[in-house]
Amino acid sequence: MSRTDILMTAPMMPIVVETLEKACTLHRLWEQPDQEAFLKEVGPRIRGVATSTLYGRLEASLLDRLPNVEIISSFGVGYDNVDAAEAARRGIVVTNTPGVLDDEVADLTLGLLLATLRKIPQADRYLREGQWLKASFPLSTTLRGRKVGIVGLGRIGKAIARRLAGFDVSIAYHGRTQQDDVAYTYYPTVTGLAEACDVLIVITPGGASTRHLINADVLKALGPNGVLINVARGTVVDEQALIEALRSGTILSAGLDVYEDEPRVPQELIDMEHVVLLPHIASASVHTRNAMGKLVADNIVSWVEGKGPLTPVPETPYKGRQL
Ligand code: NDP
Repeated sequence: MSRTDILMTAPMMPIVVETLEKACTLHRLWEQPDQEAFLKEVGPRIRGVATSTLYGRLEASLLDRLPNVEIISSFGVGYDNVDAAEAARRGIVVTNTPGVLDDEVADLTLGLLLATLRKIPQADRYLREGQWLKASFPLSTTLRGRKVGIVGLGRIGKAIARRLAGFDVSIAYHGRTQQDDVAYTYYPTVTGLAEACDVLIVITPGGASTRHLINADVLKALGPNGVLINVARGTVVDEQALIEALRSGTILSAGLDVYEDEPRVPQELIDMEHVVLLPHIASASVHTRNAMGKLVADNIVSWVEGKGPLTPVPETPYKGRQL
């Protein structure tokens, strides 16, 4: 029996490549000297695509060249790099990597929150610059007595909340729907949550439905003692409104892992001493990235073996299609 042809759109981790090469014929799009000619010849044979949220959008124009694709396996739990509604229209199943990164992202979020409040990176810089020899580092703000609002109490949001419980702070949340099985206070609007809290942790999906969910009004509601932590997607926060709020003292500070135009970060943010900026690393440990890579490959292998994908996204439920 001929092996199933799979297309990889950009370089991926060895675990993905090795697992796929054992089970399929793997084609590397970025290595093709003439992609047009390659897609013309091989495109119709491609049945599955391995792609990544790290490498930008999977364009519909590429899917047009792959008329027999049945599965797109995307690296990352967020899949705003793939138009899942369009995939559904074409009868393609999209898979992501949920669950295997929850603890890692939640750990990093708590680290970023504490780093922002206690100015840990600034204190490190202060020591290295020899300033401690002249004077003590200025006193910082604190997590003590704060009320933390989580925007998006999903898998990762809940892992963040579990960790926060150990810090003895009060916790509330906002999402589109109230969850019956959680005891945290629910706010039906994000502005209402921001008004009630002085830390806002954003951990929703990206995409059109959450674009600029955190806008100037929400930041105003968060207030002058407020701290914004964004580990979701850059698009969820209106970055210009955030810069203005940080500049004017509308909010106190921010800790960011994600930006609207990655890897470009606005110079205004880079120049601010009262923000902590990370280069989109929330899931980026060897352990967790390997687990994510394994799930990318396992989804395709399971589908090739006729067992169906392991983690299809809600927009493209698996309906039993087999090779
Ligand atoms: P889940 O699907 O488990 O949770 C998403 C939560 O967001 C749900 O509680 C949902 O609640 C809420 N939500 C969705 N849409 C909206 C909306 N329009 N307004 C308000 N709330 C909304 O996802 P995960 O917890 O697994 O992952 C969440 C996101 O975290 C990913 O999609 C990704 O964007 C981001 N992420 C970032 C990483 C990084 O490296 N910085 C790493 C991993 C994930 P409801 O349906 O009730 O609205």
